[in-house]
Amino acid sequence: MLVQAATGNTSVKLDGVLWIKASGKWLAHAGKDEILVPVSLAETRRRVETNTDPAGQTAIVNGQTLGTSVETAMHTVIPHRVILHVHSVNVIAWAVRSDGEAQLQARLAGLDWQWIPYLPSGLPLAGAIQEAVEREPKTKVFVLANHGLVVCGNTPENAEALLREVEARVAITPLAVPEPNWEELHRIGDRLGWRVASNPAAHIFGMDPVARRIVQGGVLYPCQAIFLSNHVPVFSRYVTPSDVAEVKTSWVVVDGLGTLLRQRQNPVEGLTLGGLAQVILRLPEAAPLAYLTEPEVQNLLCADVYHYRERVEGNSSERIPFPQRASADGVAAELR
Ligand SMILES: [Zn+2]
Repeated sequence: MLVQAATGNTSVKLDGVLWIKASGKWLAHAGKDEILVPVSLAETRRRVETNTDPAGQTAIVNGQTLGTSVETAMHTVIPHRVILHVHSVNVIAWAVRSDGEAQLQARLAGLDWQWIPYLPSGLPLAGAIQEAVEREPKTKVFVLANHGLVVCGNTPENAEALLREVEARVAITPLAVPEPNWEELHRIGDRLGWRVASNPAAHIFGMDPVARRIVQGGVLYPCQAIFLSNHVPVFSRYVTPSDVAEVKTSWVVVDGLGTLLRQRQNPVEGLTLGGLAQVILRLPEAAPLAYLTEPEVQNLLCADVYHYRERVEGNSSERIPFPQRASADGVAAELR
């Protein structure tokens, strides 16, 4: 509910060293894997000041070469010692609404918070955060439109306490998920050679017309485009293997039933899909949505993002083909 797969990143500034989550590493694995990479805070600041993205600086930690997170610049420009950046489904459910900032005024009243309009990760987002910090240096909570949440503290404990407080204040009761028809889904999955999403929530796209309309309306936040696709094919329950032969997305919806995923070893798509479903289960039918624009989506599907995805899916034995740019029919690029 806070992060999915390798998303989100944390950092701490200690004695001139920025310890930041390594790109592609999972916060959920912090207890068993090296996920933090130490880099010089002065050097990282120098890079930001000279408009050079400090993401991807490397260090060897216990024999592993780790590269700094895509959000390193953002962690650098925020003065607080401890920073937690999450892709909380509760926050995202507000952050994808055009009235999100107004809706959060009462819910976050009394906290030092700011709404940051959508900008791509890296230097553009860090620039907006830097301006916000200069405007109001006390800010400890940043809601990133179409993206997620950043909370800050001077100790891990008070940063975490603030994260819990924000989460409690913005929590939304999700719509109940009806029980999917697993038997029929598996029958269709076996017929196509695709797998049935294991998370019941992922099947709302087949069962709930409102969820379907929302997801077909466009890209709500970057992970949706990067790890799933910016549109989703829908088939009837009579779908045949030849119907899906030309499908380029990693998922398809079966009308009335649920969601099938392409056969792969990698859990990232299923986790991203589960997160997307949890966001959409928190959007009322009448909520005014602010989708990413077509140029914003195209900007996401660039080579840098492809390499980012490759790192995130680092355990996959499969190679992912390089993304195609938008095709003539206006269906934008897929990552494979
Ligand atoms: Zn993020």
